[in-house]
Amino acid sequence: MKFSHRILQVKPSPTLEVISLANALKAKGVDVIGFGAGEPDFDTPGFIKEAAIHAIESGKTKYTPAGGITELKSAVTQKFKRDNNLDYTIKEITINCGGKHSFYNLMQVILNKGDEVIIPAPYWVSYPPMVLLAEGVPVIVETEEKHGFKMLPGQLREALTKKTRAVVLNSPSNPTGAAYDKSEIAAIAEVIGDRDIIIVSDDIYEMIRYTGDPLFNIANVSKEMKKKSVVLNGVSKTYAMTGWRIGYMAGASSIIEQIETLQSQSTSNPTSISQWAAVAAITGDQSAVGEMVKTFEQRKKIMVSGLNETPGISCTDPDGTFYVFPCVEKVYSMNGWRRIEQKYGNAFKSSNLSSYLLEEAGVAVVPGVAFGSDNHLRLSFATSEGNIMNGVKRIGEAVRKLT
Ligand code: PLP
Repeated sequence: MKFSHRILQVKPSPTLEVISLANALKAKGVDVIGFGAGEPDFDTPGFIKEAAIHAIESGKTKYTPAGGITELKSAVTQKFKRDNNLDYTIKEITINCGGKHSFYNLMQVILNKGDEVIIPAPYWVSYPPMVLLAEGVPVIVETEEKHGFKMLPGQLREALTKKTRAVVLNSPSNPTGAAYDKSEIAAIAEVIGDRDIIIVSDDIYEMIRYTGDPLFNIANVSKEMKKKSVVLNGVSKTYAMTGWRIGYMAGASSIIEQIETLQSQSTSNPTSISQWAAVAAITGDQSAVGEMVKTFEQRKKIMVSGLNETPGISCTDPDGTFYVFPCVEKVYSMNGWRRIEQKYGNAFKSSNLSSYLLEEAGVAVVPGVAFGSDNHLRLSFATSEGNIMNGVKRIGEAVRKLT
């Protein structure tokens, strides 16, 4: 069968693959602890579900405008004012079928063949494929753990070329949990200066943070930076609504208009019922968010300290998200490592380690190579404290067998 060169360049999402592998093993009766999840394990708050039920019962079950209902756009403008001190009009907001779809749409409308998009690594697995699907070129900037996995202004300066069309900032970051502070964002903005490029600020984890620093977005730096920025967000992570598929973006009305044209010819509108649920989520009582973050913080402590007690593993404390990204490089020089390489024979070390941990310890983790770093693994602590304690203990036992 002949396929498009665009689809042949990309592979299925490795995080979703790990989850389905772990689920398949669980279905066979194998005791697997899953640290692969990219979603909160909490239920969507009741009042949000009720808003969806009300939408169904009151007949809000028809097509909506392609770019979303005005009520949701208006709620999003209020959210940007309330949480980010950013003023947007309704025409500068678009509603999409999840944050992933928001990014996909954006790449489709701003990139021409060969346009470059700067992506700091480690990166969310889906950025490079979505750039490739729009015939763009991902330009990967390797950040270092000793710099907190953050792109330095000098690195950005070096990566910029005449072909640069966009720069992606994801803070707090999936997979590292690193968040840029105000001065770091200002330094990045200074390098961008008056260049005619788009800054994509992916803020999907903005509410899941542990540092206490006030929210600060590159669009807050100046009017000029706001004009160049497209701010991406959604309800998936903040309100435990991953399955509802609502993401949104704020940016120049000219970009938003093109995205809505694309959406009108592809998905039509995001689900009407989910849009009404998102209105309730964004405008309603926000206390469930704080409760969720408190629980995550407690789990984070257990996971970080447990991993740091494991030989060969060092784990930095994430500023935000529900992920840790421990360095496992020293495991690769342990006595038993050659045996693991021979047994699993994957092209990448972190894939071999993940396969070993799944088989030997019954623990599912995501290989760091999927995020652009083969010396790391990604573990999600969006699971119970019991699972975290047990899973980290099992990892420790499996790794000690290699020493
Ligand atoms: N951005 C980042 C960094 C993510 O990790 C994710 C989800 O994993 C998304 C965006 C998109 O989330 P959703 O499509 O569920 O809104």
